Amino acid sequence: MDLKNLPPAMVSQLANMVEDYVTSSRKKYASQALPLTDEQRTAMQPFFSPAVLDSARLCVLRGTRVSNPSMYAMAKMMGIRNLPDFAAMTAITFVDVIVSYQEFTDALLFHELVHVAQYAQMDMKEFAARFVNGFIQSGSYEEVPLEKMAHALEDRFSNNTTQVFSVDDEVRQWRAANAQ
Ligand SMILES: [Zn+2]
Repeated sequence: MDLKNLPPAMVSQLANMVEDYVTSSRKKYASQALPLTDEQRTAMQPFFSPAVLDSARLCVLRGTRVSNPSMYAMAKMMGIRNLPDFAAMTAITFVDVIVSYQEFTDALLFHELVHVAQYAQMDMKEFAARFVNGFIQSGSYEEVPLEKMAHALEDRFSNNTTQVFSVDDEVRQWRAANAQ
């Protein structure tokens, strides 16, 4: 089945399930997550707004992994392949709670904070809809536009950490240029 032909009702149902997954995962990990250290904050400050830096919480998971959404069973039945395995990722951001399987490098933290900034400008509904639609259109997690933006900005940061830019502005411009 070509995913692009999925009925809109089914797409919005998938987006609702992503929303539930993000909300419950955020709740699950929020209690064990901590604010940025002073050192992390200093490194990220030139690129992110105080609101993003104040709200972000970090959690390094040891000996356990984030489970995949229960909706995967249904998504697979619908013929959706290539679903991202959350246990195999480096880190995952649930709104403002960042869960990582390794210690945070500046590049990793930067990437995940881009997602925090994306969530901050969209409500959960819009974020989930953009993610699901991006996945359906591209057929892979890496090609979802929200993910590509995070990678591109992370590269920009890593290539030259003294070349300052505003992630909030980047997200705002991207959103204005990519109306839903
Ligand atoms: Zn990402």
